[in-house]
Amino acid sequence: MRAVGLKERLVYREDWSEPVAQAGEALVRVSLGGICRTDLELVAGYKEYRGILGHELIGRVSQASAVWLDKRVVAEINVACGKCPWCRGGGDDRHCPHRTALGIRGRNGVFADYVTVPEANLRVVPDRVTDLQAVFCEPLAAAFAVLEALPSDGLDVLLCGDGNLGSLIAQVLKRRHRLVWVGRHAHKLALWKERGYDVRTTLDSAERFPIVVEATGNPEALSWAQSHLLPRGTLVLKSTTAAERHLDLNQLVVSEQRVVGSRCGRFEPALAALEEGSIDVESLLEATYPLQDGLLAFERAGTRGARKILLDCR
Ligand SMILES: [Zn+2]
Ligand SMILES: [Zn+2]
Repeated sequence: MRAVGLKERLVYREDWSEPVAQAGEALVRVSLGGICRTDLELVAGYKEYRGILGHELIGRVSQASAVWLDKRVVAEINVACGKCPWCRGGGDDRHCPHRTALGIRGRNGVFADYVTVPEANLRVVPDRVTDLQAVFCEPLAAAFAVLEALPSDGLDVLLCGDGNLGSLIAQVLKRRHRLVWVGRHAHKLALWKERGYDVRTTLDSAERFPIVVEATGNPEALSWAQSHLLPRGTLVLKSTTAAERHLDLNQLVVSEQRVVGSRCGRFEPALAALEEGSIDVESLLEATYPLQDGLLAFERAGTRGARKILLDCR
């Protein structure tokens, strides 16, 4: 089958073997896949992953137990082992030490004709949600996960980053917090300014916030983000980067600040928000490429300021 993946380098090939669904798994015909920052970081050497890339998808089930057959689905990306002490103790499946993750860790991803996913990971996409919206479900779920890292509603939050993830996080945060949103791209932020967001391209060096969310994907932005954090404040980290990053640990101690990592989120709130139409994902779309142009698509996704690039796998 056709797929885009990582061998020694990024490749598009038509001779990947078609996956075979194991017990409890569904075979999904992929409709659309979304290229995300994590995919670019994997290509750059983050995690030394080898295999088919991609974890953001909308597709249709082609083989599974009867209840799932022919359903339009998205899929949670983490697959826990279900057997280890962490899993048996009721631990969150996103943190099973033996987990695999679609297109990121030990399990082929979605930039392909077909992908296999445990049925337990599938979520039916409501009819009102289009394919183009549904493919944003995974990053939107990751945006909702930021709420889990915050102590309460109604806080003053500084969000750093106007990329795709940043734009989703902004929409999620604005519903429950007072948001100041800093990014580098005035042309991207202009749209959100019109919609009533407090957007900036710079910040007075003295401005400090009790919550700072770092979602730039830029390794150098971390110390800048920390410099705008109040004493006893919380810094929420959303970016994973192949490059190393540095925090001022002395400042953390002296100012008694907290750092919280935040990764994948649950799909339910994301699907519900897409269904009620309260999150705009369409304006984040840059372009859609056919799967066989996957290398071009990755190149475009890696250009500075690029919005979401989709791969059409049909
Ligand atoms: Zn992603
Ligand atoms: Zn486990």
